[in-house]
Amino acid sequence: MVNSSAPAAVTAKGLQALIDALRQRGYRVLGPTIRDDAIVYDDIAALGDLPRGWTDEQDGGRYRLARRNDGAFFGYAVGPHSWKKYLHPPVQRLWRSERDGDNVRVLPEPAPEERFAFIGVRACELHAIAIQDRVFLGGASVDPHYRARRERAFLVAVNCGTAGGTCFCVSMKTGPKAVEGYDLALTELPDRDDPVFVVEAGSDSGRALLATLPQRPATEVELAAAASVVARTAASMGREMRADDLHELLLGNLGHPRWDEVAGRCLTCGNCTMVCPTCFCTSVEESSDLSGAETSRSRRWDSCFTMDFSYIHGGSVRPSARSRYRQWMTHKLATWFDQFGSSGCVGCGRCITWCPVGIDITEEVRAIRDSKPQ
Ligand code: SF4
Ligand code: SF4
Repeated sequence: MVNSSAPAAVTAKGLQALIDALRQRGYRVLGPTIRDDAIVYDDIAALGDLPRGWTDEQDGGRYRLARRNDGAFFGYAVGPHSWKKYLHPPVQRLWRSERDGDNVRVLPEPAPEERFAFIGVRACELHAIAIQDRVFLGGASVDPHYRARRERAFLVAVNCGTAGGTCFCVSMKTGPKAVEGYDLALTELPDRDDPVFVVEAGSDSGRALLATLPQRPATEVELAAAASVVARTAASMGREMRADDLHELLLGNLGHPRWDEVAGRCLTCGNCTMVCPTCFCTSVEESSDLSGAETSRSRRWDSCFTMDFSYIHGGSVRPSARSRYRQWMTHKLATWFDQFGSSGCVGCGRCITWCPVGIDITEEVRAIRDSKPQ
């Protein structure tokens, strides 16, 4: 049972102690780092691994890192990576087989034993993980690989102090403040020489770990500052999208000419599905060694933007860019409700930023809404 313990305050020293404590408990600690001019998730061991003093500038088809004028550790929005690359990895072996003469032995892939600690999970990403929980754990078939990784994961959320140029979590009611689904949630107060983090515990294990860190109760001033960080971020979203009627709007406009217009720009590259934290589709592939003694089957991320994805005995069900873009967007924003009881979009903005031609899901919705027959 979670106590309603009062928020604590920790300094950068406390943040390092958190990383150390997680590593000592056997977690593989992952968080934001800078690589290839982007903020990506990778292994971290020390505060020096974090993108301190950096932010990201984002717009349709555009992403740049830029220097901040303070020493914020988490002063960016989100990068091209999401946590799904750890919980639902791009390639997952499902089984392998060995042949010995006339005998074939099939060996299912054991559930992974690795324990992940994610540092810097955004509110929208907590919602994305909850959506993937419903996909992989919520139905009749439970994915054992996802479950093993997910059940052992320790989530450290960081409330957003900076809205990205393509963020619209306020429209999707998924941020910028982490409300549930975390073990610890931090709000960074960077406008000081020695940054302070207001820390809230969201689980028993989070509270137990917090109790071991160098900390003190957060002051009223710090709590007010933390609230204003979130309020400022909420007021500066890069995008907005009316989301209360999308199921009817999109499914009532399957023949809208806008699908042809967007298809004229879409390269069907699949970037939007790769960077999306909720897209989960996969294909399976089998490979064998040259002698045929060993075979394996793997699951690999796939995309509804490929022709092969909907190939059925002799042809693709969605041969045109129009049908593939429409499938992606209507699934994400409309039929996901029928399938999983929620939207498939958390408003992170990645599909807008990383689309090479800057196609903007919020703009596509607006175009259909503004021109639909009244
Ligand atoms: S559809 Fe786009 S904005 Fe929505 S969750 Fe996926 S990547 Fe983020
Ligand atoms: S919408 Fe953009 S990112 Fe997605 S498939 Fe089309 S061109 Fe690629």
